[in-house]
Amino acid sequence: MFFRDLLGQERVISFLRQGLASGQMPHALLFLGPEGVGKESTALALAQALNCQERRPDQDACGRCQSCRLFAAGNHPDFWRIRPEGEGVNPQIKIEQIRELRRQTGFAPFAGAWRVVLLKPAAAMNEAAANALLKTLEEPPPHNLLILTASGERDLLPTIVSRCRRLVFQALPPSLVVQQLQARRGLSFEAATLMAAIHGGSLGLALAAEPASLVAAREQMLSELAGLDEPEYSPVLAWAAAQAKKGAEVERFLLLAQLWYRDLLVLASQGGVAQLINQDRLADLRQQQGRIGRETILRRLEALQGLQRQLRSNVNVELALNAFTWHWRQARPAAAEAGRSAANELW
Ligand SMILES: [Zn+2]
Repeated sequence: MFFRDLLGQERVISFLRQGLASGQMPHALLFLGPEGVGKESTALALAQALNCQERRPDQDACGRCQSCRLFAAGNHPDFWRIRPEGEGVNPQIKIEQIRELRRQTGFAPFAGAWRVVLLKPAAAMNEAAANALLKTLEEPPPHNLLILTASGERDLLPTIVSRCRRLVFQALPPSLVVQQLQARRGLSFEAATLMAAIHGGSLGLALAAEPASLVAAREQMLSELAGLDEPEYSPVLAWAAAQAKKGAEVERFLLLAQLWYRDLLVLASQGGVAQLINQDRLADLRQQQGRIGRETILRRLEALQGLQRQLRSNVNVELALNAFTWHWRQARPAAAEAGRSAANELW
C-alpha cells in the first residue's frame, strides 16, 4: 500500500509525509474517523514507507526493495495487527494481547527500521487491556509505532487519547465514492450513487456491500411504508412489533426511507434530477411527489428524523416505532380526517 494510492485524506497524508521527511514520527498515532475511509490503508502505507530501504523523495515507499516486497506479500514481520478476539456480539482486545505487545516491543524490530502495530478498533480494548496499554504509551519503546483507530475520541479513555497524536480522517466526498464504485465494482452511475449515499463517505463499506441486496432492501422499505397508509391500524402495529425485533436492520430501513423522502423533497423544491440519490426510480419519485405534496413530505421526513433520534437514545424500540407510525399516518395528504381517525384508533 502506498500513499500515492490513497483517496482523500490529504491533510493526514501530508502530516505523515512531513514526519517521515523530518524523521520525527510520534510514537503513537490515533486515527479518528468513520469506518471505511482509509485508516487501515494509511497505517499500512505509513509502515511500508517507514521501513522502505529506498524511500522516494515524496516520502512514499519505493515498491521494489526487499521490505516493500514483504509488505506486498502481506507478511512483513514488523507490521502487526491487534484485533478483537473471541466470538459473540462483543469480541474484545484482551490484556493478554497487550502483554504480548509489550513483550515483543521490548526487542528491536526484526527486519526493518520500525515495528508498526495497528490496534483496530482501539475501542475494543477492555478496561484491563486499555490500562496495560497506557504503560506502553507512557514509556514508548524506541523504533515502535503504535497506531490506534477509533470512530471518535469518546470511545477511548481520555488518558489514552492524550498520549497519542490525533489525526482526523474525513468521510470521502460522495462524488469520489461514486466514481470508485463505478471503476472498481463496475456499477452503473445510478447504482453507485445509491450505494455511496447509504454508506455515507465510507468507500470501504460501500465496496464490501452487495448492490442487489441494497436494492431489494429499498423495495422492501417502499412496500412497508406503503403498508403504513392502510386504513386498518392493527397491521401497522404488527409491523412496528416485527421491526422492533430486527435490530440493526431498522437502521438501514430508516436510512433508505430518509434518502427516499429526501429525494421527494428535492423534487418538490424544484431541484435537479442530478441531485437525486434514487435516480433509477425517477418516474416513481415524480409520481409519488405529485400525489402526496410538499407538506406531507416534510412532515414525514420529520417523523423519520424523530424516530432516528429516539433509536439513538436507547428508548424502547417498539414504543418509538409505534409513535413513528402515528406521526407518519398523521401526515397523510388527507391529514385532518385521517389524523383524527388514526388518533382515535391509537388512544
Ligand atoms: Zn521500498
